[in-house]
Amino acid sequence: RWGRPEETVTTVCPFCGVGCVMDLGVLDGHIVTIRGKRGETPNRGQLCVKGRFGLDFVESRERLKTPLIRKGGELVPATWEEALSVVVERFSRAKGDRFALLSSAKCTNEENYLAQKLARLVMETNNVDHCARLCHASTVAALATAFGSGAMTNSIEELADAGCILIIGSNTTEQHPVIALRIKEAKRRGAKIIVANPRWIELCKFADVWLRQTPGTDVPLVLALCKVILEEGLLDEEFIGERCEGFEEFRESLAGVTLEEAAAITGVEVGLIEEAARIYASNGPSSIVYSMGITQHSHGTENILALADLAMMTGNLGKPSSGINPLRGQNNVQGACDMGALPNVLPGYQAVTNDDLRRKFEARWDRELPKRPGLTLMEIFNAIHAGGVDVLYIIGENPQISDPDSTHVVEALEKVDFLVVQEIFLSETAMHADVVLPAASFAEKDGTFTNTERRVQRVRRAVPPPGEARPDWRIISEIGRRMGYPDQFSYSHPSEIMEEIASLTPSYGGISYERIAGAGLQWPCPGPDHPGTRYLHKDGFTRGKGLFTPLSYRPSAELPDGDYPFILTTGRVLCHFHTGTMTRKVAGLNYLRGEELVEINPGDGEVLGIGDGDLVEVSSRRGKVRAKARLTEKSSPGVVFMTFHFAETPTNVLTNPALDPVAKIPELKVCAVSLSKA
Ligand code: SF4
Repeated sequence: RWGRPEETVTTVCPFCGVGCVMDLGVLDGHIVTIRGKRGETPNRGQLCVKGRFGLDFVESRERLKTPLIRKGGELVPATWEEALSVVVERFSRAKGDRFALLSSAKCTNEENYLAQKLARLVMETNNVDHCARLCHASTVAALATAFGSGAMTNSIEELADAGCILIIGSNTTEQHPVIALRIKEAKRRGAKIIVANPRWIELCKFADVWLRQTPGTDVPLVLALCKVILEEGLLDEEFIGERCEGFEEFRESLAGVTLEEAAAITGVEVGLIEEAARIYASNGPSSIVYSMGITQHSHGTENILALADLAMMTGNLGKPSSGINPLRGQNNVQGACDMGALPNVLPGYQAVTNDDLRRKFEARWDRELPKRPGLTLMEIFNAIHAGGVDVLYIIGENPQISDPDSTHVVEALEKVDFLVVQEIFLSETAMHADVVLPAASFAEKDGTFTNTERRVQRVRRAVPPPGEARPDWRIISEIGRRMGYPDQFSYSHPSEIMEEIASLTPSYGGISYERIAGAGLQWPCPGPDHPGTRYLHKDGFTRGKGLFTPLSYRPSAELPDGDYPFILTTGRVLCHFHTGTMTRKVAGLNYLRGEELVEINPGDGEVLGIGDGDLVEVSSRRGKVRAKARLTEKSSPGVVFMTFHFAETPTNVLTNPALDPVAKIPELKVCAVSLSKA
């Protein structure tokens, strides 16, 4: 639809965690222009291809417009009254731990707050989780242990002034494109760039050193960097002495690390390890940028603890342009965590097991709350199989395509007694539902998202929802009211929900719609006069002193062998997002990339008789899929790469559900597969 907009609405991109601010031009209830917002925004007016050209999904003919109820095996249109009556009746019979709720990193802060409130207050369970379990659960666990706070320590803008940036396990150009622009800006200003990544990525072109580690060997790689820094006296002893604890134990643990053994495990030459360590330690402020390349492992928590050790021993924390900077995948995965859509914490990471903190919520909500931590995402599906959970409410997630060992997930979706899915499209997961509730998209509602740098920003309604679709906060509130909590779920606007959040969540205490109308505010923002926090740990760590952790190498849960001789690692590409629920509805993005491609090293292709474009079968112990081969030097010998964007090629049929014992994050980045020409 074309024309000169009659109104401009400023809101936030619905895709990745950069949180680019955009101006939507609106004419007759339709989005007709999209522009990046200049000025004091995380993106300085820039947008990537998804933000600039990927919003056609909002007006897709495939949007859900009415509730659906399963009758005679088919999903058929129903009224809201019919659908909500069924939901409330069935939920009322499932109170307690037989109920579980998956909230959404695509929903606003206010909606995530209400989702966990519904689970805890109304359904009397802490069985609430969301997709952070699949991306940065290990970050939250590790950084909370080392520093007391599990979020990006510094700001996007600060990257441009770093003296050195270590990018590990992040294909930043494709996953967080606007942040990659800041990294390139830092390079132009003279910063040293170190890339540690098993695949060739575009940032390798800008790197002073590229460390191509074997997937799953990040701990020995980072410990080897620490060993060089220790032996060559490049550490910051003043910072360690004044700000940290546990260093002696960590120093002793490095006695067993040798560079030769690290090189043998990681596949990275000793000389490159030494060069990278010297660059990182000598060109500060040094910033570490990472993403799911190192979090999605059965030792993901240890990977991040190793990075914390590296940053602390060189004093690269608590000052501008330094720090540990996890790039959050989804637009509001930071906010969904902040709002307590997690089984062990209430909003603001306040433990459900802490009596004083829990009583604060009980006083406000006027009801006793469950104190035993609930099930994590993968545990919920296991509990369905075991008969422990029989009612599941999924809001804006598509686990059939996103979760590891997806055959196991599909069986659970089929087995659960009652499944409600709240969505904007009839996703692969929604097709299993007993009731589907049509939700408004980001462009059709008000609220807030919190981006990867902890910045709380306004989301504004630009166009009306299609048909009878409603904002998630309205749907959840209606269910809460109908289930007997009219006072606790009585809101006329999301700003009222934010007032309640601010009153209960210290880090959001100074957030209000008035204050974030412009550039937003970065938490911690504890009071109405607080200016927000650009970087964390300036005057001390959240936990007091930073804690060093001695570590050792634990191999990935599944390694290549004679039957499955290749490592499969998974990720995303620039022009699509996650399970493709939104971007696969956009013709232009499908034109750029319309199918799955299995990236194979040309040498491996030659040995297997597989040519570029040949159809190949990829098999693991859990299943098999078919897709075309792409022969490319991006993949090292023995390693293949696939995305999870294409439901026609459900890559996660193959992946390994082995969990990190602390964070319960599955090992999506390493599993053993075989390849053959189909
Ligand atoms: Fe949207 Fe991320 Fe692209 Fe910015 S970088 S436009 S937030 S997808």
